[in-house]
Amino acid sequence: MKDGQNRLIDYMRISITDRCNLRCIYCMPEEGIACMSHDEILSFEEIYRVVKSAGNLGVRKIKLTGGEPLVRKNIVQLIEMLRKDAKMEQVTLTTNGILLSKMAKDLKQAGLTSVNISLDTLKREQFAKVTRRDQLDDVLEGMKTCIEVGIPVKINCVPVKEINGDHLLEIAELAKKYPVSVRFIEMMPIGYGKQYEPIPNDKILEQLEEKYGKAVLSNKVYGNGPAVYYEFEGFKKGIGFISAVSHEFCENCNRIRLTSDGRLKLCLHHKDGTDLRELLRDGISEEDLTEVLRNAILRKPVSHQFYEKTIDEEETRAMVQIGG
Ligand code: SAM
Ligand code: SF4
Repeated sequence: MKDGQNRLIDYMRISITDRCNLRCIYCMPEEGIACMSHDEILSFEEIYRVVKSAGNLGVRKIKLTGGEPLVRKNIVQLIEMLRKDAKMEQVTLTTNGILLSKMAKDLKQAGLTSVNISLDTLKREQFAKVTRRDQLDDVLEGMKTCIEVGIPVKINCVPVKEINGDHLLEIAELAKKYPVSVRFIEMMPIGYGKQYEPIPNDKILEQLEEKYGKAVLSNKVYGNGPAVYYEFEGFKKGIGFISAVSHEFCENCNRIRLTSDGRLKLCLHHKDGTDLRELLRDGISEEDLTEVLRNAILRKPVSHQFYEKTIDEEETRAMVQIGG
């Protein structure tokens, strides 16, 4: 359906857990966060009901995220349910990749359409510093296993001077070496991310063009979102840029979000949200839930306001709690 700004909404990001097996410095504190109890988070059956109603309004694509979605037990069954029973055209996953090599085959069989793997550095020591866990090899193994079993892979990298500023081209070159696209996602001033200065995507594009020649704006469809892709000679896949900060893209936003505790969020940066959990547990019908979603979507905010200090609806929770 179209929202109040005439934007087509066909994509829902669902956070299925607030737990994680890494502790990325821009996302979580070292000691972790106080996790929600089992009862507080939506069950698979409840998620299914929300997706079914969203499907009635034209949502066709689901991204599972978290926390780390692969730590949620039986995620494979959830993917199968969303593909086969809720008839979603795409069910994709954003993951840190740690558990992928073990799970890729089952995920593929369940109908997972593609995977985004977050990887900010290719240097082992740096990886251990950024994620507070020494597990770079597991992520690379996970990426390779996905390629082997035929799950399309996108690598997501958040460019920050002190994390990876000295080897961003090396990360981009994963798209030269492997059939994976690489996307640079500007750090957003949300949660712990506020402490870090983003490297603007234009700077990275400049560096890439210096080394690899003029970038060609891609006309291939790589994803569902706001990334702009370029092709470089000799690369197997495109390099994408998501410039939430330097080039606001809210006018083309196609998504809504569901937090793990059942809040429907219309914008990443706004605190707003409709509590669907209570309605679900009170036994709301599919029809009524569809109407609740419709009314909420019509009120989707026009844009984020990252640098408006006075905004009183600003989201104050960490990314791991919202579902990045
Ligand atoms: N654990 C999974 C992962 O790391 O892909 C899924 C959840 S994580 C919150 C989703 C994505 O959000 C990751 O790619 C992470 O790098 C990104 N992220 C976290 N905090 C961010 C921030 N302040 N700005 C931009 N991206 C951020
Ligand atoms: Fe975990 Fe993803 Fe946050 Fe890193 S970015 S701490 S992997 S949720």
